[in-house]
Amino acid sequence: MTDTAWPGEGIDPERASAARIYDYILGGGHNFAVDRDMAEQVLDVNPDTRRHVQQNRAFLRRAVLFMMQQGIRQFLDLGSGIPTVGNVHEIAQAADPRCRVVYVDIDPVAVAHSEMLLADNPNAAIIRADVARPDLVLRSPVTRRLLDFARPVGLLALTIGHYLAPAQQPFGIFAAYRDQLAPGSHLAVSHVTNELTGNRADIVAEMMRKAKSNSVFPRNRDEVLRFFDGYQLVEPGLVTTSRWRPELPEERLGDAGADGQYA
Ligand code: SAM
Repeated sequence: MTDTAWPGEGIDPERASAARIYDYILGGGHNFAVDRDMAEQVLDVNPDTRRHVQQNRAFLRRAVLFMMQQGIRQFLDLGSGIPTVGNVHEIAQAADPRCRVVYVDIDPVAVAHSEMLLADNPNAAIIRADVARPDLVLRSPVTRRLLDFARPVGLLALTIGHYLAPAQQPFGIFAAYRDQLAPGSHLAVSHVTNELTGNRADIVAEMMRKAKSNSVFPRNRDEVLRFFDGYQLVEPGLVTTSRWRPELPEERLGDAGADGQYA
């Protein structure tokens, strides 16, 4: 994407966005110079970041397939991001084309590209919304059309919780989603932590704050566990992304410190 190619509504090409930084680090092309600059600064602080985001995407795939093994056929993906390789509907619908997916993101680039990708897919759609407003997300006509709340839902919240400030009461937000889901529903979370990479997560958070990009709030293990209040953790519990049910031994990269996030 060139810097002038996106005059779209709500897009600020002068301010880095989490969605576009993440896209750049994953090797995507939907980002501006300001995003690439910020991404390179993040990579300078923590050169492992590229591997962490790849591990996060691999975790997403395993979480979706695990939920499908439990019978889940509909997903609500909070903070879904700019489409990349291995989006939720592709993973799920490859296994069962009847799977339904609602994506939610606040970033206009993420929403525009998702709309294009999903234009011909009757079983998947995106809504532009703040995930901190579960009432709006859950009442959206798109959500209501695609998801049947009488049946279990797979709630996906990967690398989104740390964009919610303590003042927003993130655990209350997650509880509000949980309370609307049928028994048998599942939640998958990944979340940046300040416990595994020294002070690097805090340095990145401060850089993002100074650049007036998305604020980031790394959390410790006990705090991340609170997102799962009211759910029963499946084995192996809260671990780092690459340690959550790796399919191949080589996915279990390095020691726990090799991952930058809990899942
Ligand atoms: N979930 C995907 C994953 O883990 O691969 C994408 C993660 S990306 C790092 C985080 C996404 O969350 C971005 O696309 C950003 O726009 C979105 N986001 C951040 N805060 C949000 C909010 N309050 N409401 C909706 N989306 C938000």
